[in-house]
Amino acid sequence: MVLTTTGNKGGDEEMGVLGLESVVAEARTTFESGKTRGFDWRQSQLKSLLRLLKEREDDMFKVLKDDLGKHRVEAFRDEVGALVKSTENALLYLKNWMSPERVSLPLVAFPTVAEIVPEPLGVVLVFSSWNFPLGLSLEPLIGAIAAGNAAVLKPSELAPATSEFLSDTIPKYLDYEAIKVIQGGPQVAEQLLDLKWDKIFFTGSPKVGRIVMTAAAKHLTPVTLELGGKCPAIFDSLKSSRDKMVATERIVGGKWGACYGQACIGIDYLLVEEKYAPILLELLKGVLQKFFPNFELMARIVNKHHFQRLCNLLKNESVAASIVHGGSMNPDKLFIEPTILLNPPLDAEIMTEEIFGPFLPIITLKKIEDSVKFLRARPTPLVIYGFTHDEKLKRRIVEETSSGCVVFNDALIQYMCETIPFGGVGQSGFGQYHGKFSFDNFSNRKPVVRRSFLIELSFRYPPWNEKKLQL
Ligand code: NAD
Repeated sequence: MVLTTTGNKGGDEEMGVLGLESVVAEARTTFESGKTRGFDWRQSQLKSLLRLLKEREDDMFKVLKDDLGKHRVEAFRDEVGALVKSTENALLYLKNWMSPERVSLPLVAFPTVAEIVPEPLGVVLVFSSWNFPLGLSLEPLIGAIAAGNAAVLKPSELAPATSEFLSDTIPKYLDYEAIKVIQGGPQVAEQLLDLKWDKIFFTGSPKVGRIVMTAAAKHLTPVTLELGGKCPAIFDSLKSSRDKMVATERIVGGKWGACYGQACIGIDYLLVEEKYAPILLELLKGVLQKFFPNFELMARIVNKHHFQRLCNLLKNESVAASIVHGGSMNPDKLFIEPTILLNPPLDAEIMTEEIFGPFLPIITLKKIEDSVKFLRARPTPLVIYGFTHDEKLKRRIVEETSSGCVVFNDALIQYMCETIPFGGVGQSGFGQYHGKFSFDNFSNRKPVVRRSFLIELSFRYPPWNEKKLQL
């Protein structure tokens, strides 16, 4: 059974708590039957997901266009293609991931063997956000299925076409008794959070992350929070003009090239030495012109609310005065020009809140080494990007700052590598996924210890005496 909205697609619906409860109860009954635990079920589900991704590719491009205006190449790179790669990877390694892992033991335990046996957690709840509405829904689902769980997915109501697509296709391709899609907004989400889950995997804002964690505490449900934050990029003086150009292209790609700045791992702001700021600004303008000759090809701001939120960031007079490139807007098309700001006030919202849109503040520093102090004074981001050849600066960034990930001399590339765990730390969340890390995220790594009756050591037992301490 899949619950879809009537009239208000993707928004809160009138199904009521009892309807939700019965859907979740069916998933639990299925999990408890043991059906989802076996290799064959997991493999067949992943194969069906792969089939869905391949057979319905054009539909996926269409819904991503409808919801966000994403070009099909961008949609393929960031969502559809990435998901195909992840599913194929999970299929390739499934047997290996499921296999118990032998562990070595200290001599005192001889003769004993032990292994870590991954077991599924049970019925898991996945909440996803709207900016990569397919990727952030299905990527966790791949891990949940591979690990043998039943799952309930609630996609974001702010990407209604994708939400509808998932709700329509998932039950046709996957085991509808075990994998459910429930559409809805905050009201439905809160009703779901009231129920008992064995894991909640949440992608979204820190504000809602707190709501999720509070609700999870009631049932002692483990959570993964994939949150956002302000990902900085440090632009050091680079050796050659070629390196400067490559770095600028990667910065422009990392700022505006993925969902037009509405990406959790997108560059939020740039740090640069005062004396290099004019060069950097010229480079950025040149690359913007080259990459975006036609604004029609770019993803758009998701909706009016977020358009207005972004406009409000520029309302502050000092912020508006710091615009050095762009700044024009078209509310009818939900379009905002790529906009660069030079040294907006550090206490303005644009520098204290995640931007999640096409504004790029450049903050100048006397010396690039000051960037370490700058970052240490702020909440831990999902990623720190550093464009530099300076090995000492690289070491300081790795050792003296904290973030979910550090990437030198590129941006976003880490998302494409399934051997790199993806996740935040502190304000940007906790728990990691992608590749084997997704499998582990949705598993209990259960140690199983097998002891023989052969050797018995009496000093382990009372009555205690000093002699036993000397053995
Ligand atoms: P959001 O927190 O508003 O919504 C996320 C999910 O929570 C949605 O499914 C939504 O329906 C649900 N939700 C909304 N209000 C709720 C409530 N009161 N109670 C329970 N659930 C509720 O976030 P968003 O606007 O969809 O996404 C933007 C945020 O997500 C940004 O902060 C961004 O950085 C972050 N994000 C993080 C990652 C990551 O992988 N770390 C990826 C994408 C987005």
